Amino acid sequence: MSKVRLFVEHPLGAGQCVPLTGAQAHYLFSVMRLGEGDGLALFNGRDGEWRARVAEVGKKGGALACEARTAPLRLPPDVWLMFAPLKKARTDFIVEKAAELGVRRILPVATGFTGAERIRRDRLQAHAVEAAEQCGGTFVPEVAELAPLAAVLEGWDPARRVMWCDEARVGMAVALDLPPGPWAVLTGPEGGFSEAERARLAALPFVVPVSLGPRILRADTAAVAALALWQFHCGDWR
Ligand code: SAM
Repeated sequence: MSKVRLFVEHPLGAGQCVPLTGAQAHYLFSVMRLGEGDGLALFNGRDGEWRARVAEVGKKGGALACEARTAPLRLPPDVWLMFAPLKKARTDFIVEKAAELGVRRILPVATGFTGAERIRRDRLQAHAVEAAEQCGGTFVPEVAELAPLAAVLEGWDPARRVMWCDEARVGMAVALDLPPGPWAVLTGPEGGFSEAERARLAALPFVVPVSLGPRILRADTAAVAALALWQFHCGDWR
């Protein structure tokens, strides 16, 4: 069986014929050099992982035949990443690493000091798909549209706690006393959180401020470190 893993939107099941888009056909037949009868693994974020074979090769399309399920859908723990987007490559990095580390949802939030005013949601979603293809995941987290932090907090379900990475706690002990349940990890932009944002976050009962150790981390490092800490203490790394 080939090591090629491909994400498709199509439903997966025994005997299903999965049509390919032009981009998928290019990747499979021109880049990975698969031909008729060759095997690969498919997932769609809902039906687990399936063994499939190339049934039809075309220049602008083709088809795969789905054979048997090789792994069930493995959902990551119920943690979201909420982060202030940075410059393009660093935002791409955060989304890719969050999908690899295992999150259910990715929420880019605009804060007072956020440098990036818009994001390309479709591009970021494609990075999450590629990360899942590469790391053996069977689930792809949804990347939400950029929304103001204040509005996101306004409509927040208080049952989901927020692990707020608070740069003012730099140097304090990394003491994570996080009860079980749904969580979101929140990291700020390069400029940190504004005084007004800090006051708002500190007053919310579902927000738990945490330190990420003795050094101020770059925002992209902070997102990865915070998710790793959460996964170790509360998630599926335990
Ligand atoms: N400009 C800010 C300052 O000098 O205090 C630093 C912002 S830091 C580059 C970006 C984000 O990473 C912060 O908003 C915070 O969420 C997170 N962060 C970085 N280092 C941290 C630490 N040691 N403890 C908690 N959060 C940290």
